[in-house]
Amino acid sequence: MPTFFSSLSELDQRSRQLDALAVQCPHCLCSGNLIGHGRVFRKAHGGISVCVGKRIRCSARYGRNGCGRTIRLYLAHRIPSLQHGADAVQAFVLSLLAGVRVDISYQNATSALSPRNAWRWMNRLRRRLPEWRSRLMDVASVRSGPFAVLFPTLAAWLNSGSVADSQTARNMAFF
Ligand SMILES: [Zn+2]
Repeated sequence: MPTFFSSLSELDQRSRQLDALAVQCPHCLCSGNLIGHGRVFRKAHGGISVCVGKRIRCSARYGRNGCGRTIRLYLAHRIPSLQHGADAVQAFVLSLLAGVRVDISYQNATSALSPRNAWRWMNRLRRRLPEWRSRLMDVASVRSGPFAVLFPTLAAWLNSGSVADSQTARNMAFF
């Protein structure tokens, strides 16, 4: 089942068609028990709550016999675990690839007053590295230095589109 959707209307449409499409629960693999279970909100940068996706429940009520677990489906332009959107992460990564310093890239991308989270973002990128490389067929390691593997992998990962596009196309959170 796809996890990322390009718009809330596409996500709403998918959650209305769960029965018709006989979508399987990824936990118990049965179909016919999935129902929409409300939207998922996250406090965005600046303190405003924004909708980042929808919750789907494998229902064990009202004549259904699902496993009772929930699944989250997300909007591709949001990073599920992050206050900033995919556009900020995209700007950060492109800036890094252009050779701009990590702290400056972070502050330019997020308008943050302090760069203290810049290295947290770098750590998140590094943690994703093995998974990206396992899904990419051919990645050159041309640079030397601490980002010798990370930067070519990032460039290859985003070769065919934006961070939001990559979440939809590859069905996984960017980081
Ligand atoms: Zn289930």
